[in-house]
Amino acid sequence: MAYLDIAHLEKSFGANRVVKDFSLPIDQGEFVSLLGPSGCGKTTVLRMVAGFETPSAGAIRIEGKDIVPLRPNQRNVGMVFQAYALFPNLTVAQNVGFGLKIAGVRAAEAQGRVAEMLDLIGLPMAEFGGRYPFQLSGGQQQRVALARALAPRPRVLLLDEPLSALDAKVRVRLRTEIRDIQRRLGITTIFVTHDQEEALSISDRVVVMNAGIADQVGSPFEIYNQPATPFVASFVGTLTPIDATVIDPHQGTVMSGGLTLHLGRALPVQAGTVVPIALRPEAVHLGRASGREIVLPATARAVEFMGSVIRIRAEAGGQSFLLDTFNRPDAPPPRPGEPVEISFSGRDVIVIGA
Ligand code: ADP
Ligand code: MG
Repeated sequence: MAYLDIAHLEKSFGANRVVKDFSLPIDQGEFVSLLGPSGCGKTTVLRMVAGFETPSAGAIRIEGKDIVPLRPNQRNVGMVFQAYALFPNLTVAQNVGFGLKIAGVRAAEAQGRVAEMLDLIGLPMAEFGGRYPFQLSGGQQQRVALARALAPRPRVLLLDEPLSALDAKVRVRLRTEIRDIQRRLGITTIFVTHDQEEALSISDRVVVMNAGIADQVGSPFEIYNQPATPFVASFVGTLTPIDATVIDPHQGTVMSGGLTLHLGRALPVQAGTVVPIALRPEAVHLGRASGREIVLPATARAVEFMGSVIRIRAEAGGQSFLLDTFNRPDAPPPRPGEPVEISFSGRDVIVIGA
């Protein structure tokens, strides 16, 4: 049985149905991300789990017990918000101890717990306990917000875009820290983000949300390599979409333009069906390479130097291909307009929804 079970959750604001038949069973200790564009209903789902919003229909169970009738402070759920929601007039230690005081934890025990939480987030009591939020960096403030959420030892941790107000370097460091702390405590966590790289990099499972609906639920590997819908395919990562006609579904042979591709796996459709297929930039190689049976003469059209990776847009037979190649100091990338060869394998082609 799922530890946290969200079942057929619905939420409408007036005539606006913002969460639609949303179901998500989560195991104890699991780290699950809700990933989707702004306005797709991520925060609304989280607020219903926290108890700040009442579902229009559906159930939310923790260890089998429906928590929907419970008030937020009876649910034993901790939440961290996007904007720094620390109390500006309280010290770091007072902020972290806030929920404990409300819960009636005795002062001596609360003090110990606060010190423990501050150690956990790497802001030791002696140095940081007496500081006020304005004396902390954005990243430190979000750490304190995390410690405050964790101090009452919640059963479930909810994180609503906790990193999106931070600059890129801090964001990446803090996401790793959050994941480490979550693992150490073994706390069941839902993490909301609109940043696909963030979701893929730290989650056990990712839920891709599209207009209130869970389009796909899967491991980062599955979401990236087997996108279930065109929306997931376009929202997660970058790819070159291609339309192909199925020639032989059993052998997995498709045709696109003048190109015949052997996908090396059966397709669950009839011959003649048009299927959306796609190639990730890392599946397309600059030049010939062993194991990549399809070689096309192409023209480089755009070259984007991104550091460790160079992304090239090349045109072959009227079709645009994106390809990533690793930077090598001894081999400058082609220039726009230069003729190149590109190669890939039919086995690396993604069939969207199959
Ligand atoms: P996300 O977190 O994915 O950006 P939200 O859950 O905040 O999305 O919002 C989903 C939709 O619900 C949006 O269209 C938003 O305008 C609407 N919405 C959210 N909260 C309310 C509310 N309290 N009253 C009316 N509409 C709301
Ligand atoms: Mg939101």
